[in-house]
Amino acid sequence: MGHFMTTAPLALYGEALMRLIFPAPCGLCKTMLEIDERGVCPNCKSLLWKLRRGHAEGAVQHSLAGLVHAWALFSYEGPFKDLMASIKILKKRWLLALFFEEIRQFSIQQLQKSPYDAIVPIPLDPGRWLEREFNQAEILAAEISRSLKIPVKNLLGKHSLAEKQSRLSKKERLIHLRGAFFLKTKNTVHGLRFLLVDDVMTTGATAQEAAKTLKNAGAKHVDLWALAHTPPAAGNRTGSPS
Ligand SMILES: [Zn+2]
Repeated sequence: MGHFMTTAPLALYGEALMRLIFPAPCGLCKTMLEIDERGVCPNCKSLLWKLRRGHAEGAVQHSLAGLVHAWALFSYEGPFKDLMASIKILKKRWLLALFFEEIRQFSIQQLQKSPYDAIVPIPLDPGRWLEREFNQAEILAAEISRSLKIPVKNLLGKHSLAEKQSRLSKKERLIHLRGAFFLKTKNTVHGLRFLLVDDVMTTGATAQEAAKTLKNAGAKHVDLWALAHTPPAAGNRTGSPS
């Protein structure tokens, strides 16, 4: 994966160097990787890519206030869920590099049609950021930014939420999230177009609240891009932070 070496942030490049010294297991099935394999073995990669939603179907049907378009590349189920758990819980952020080429292609084919002023990662709950030390939405936003040559702006902050969202129903999440985000900068967002970026879109409650925060400050247009989307049948009940 040549792309990995040339455009990945330093932390990811460092991981590639480490691999020359310490062999790594597949991020999913734990079989040892060949030196030219990154993140997961070819077998696991093909299982993951079966969950690819495709460019045409990348659009997520929604009725979320404040959002126009929503897109997601993968279906959040099976091995994809396991991989995201590994990234979040075991802090294997470099596994996100598996998706950089897909992100680049989607950015150029689909997102480039829309003239965004900035890309805005959805922030983590402050407590979660402390335990994980990184926000995967920021890593994904940086990759879209590189492809589109549009800046990332960390415009949104998030208040600490007492309750874990994964325990709540869709309706409870919407109430719980009300006022969760705030605008971090006094810089105007009035009349501007934004692309929100998140790792996983579950009910869309988080994205809706983030979009509303920008719209209430006068943003003209807000879309959402997520790496993965919970399939509709499981959307109202399974556990995911977003
Ligand atoms: Zn594997």
